[in-house]
Amino acid sequence: MEEKEKKEEKKHVVCSICGKPSELTICHACEDKIRGEAVEKKHEIDKAGRTDSGRR
Ligand SMILES: [Zn+2]
Repeated sequence: MEEKEKKEEKKHVVCSICGKPSELTICHACEDKIRGEAVEKKHEIDKAGRTDSGRR
């Protein structure tokens, strides 16, 4: 009985970001979100780094 519980626990994986049941640590939706945010941040840093030249 206890072994069965363990098995189920292993199967019960949720996204570490939104907490929704997912086979992955981070579900596709959140992965997309994170990727988008990372790009935005990078863009912001790039923008702040060079204020006098608008184009790269
Ligand atoms: Zn998620």
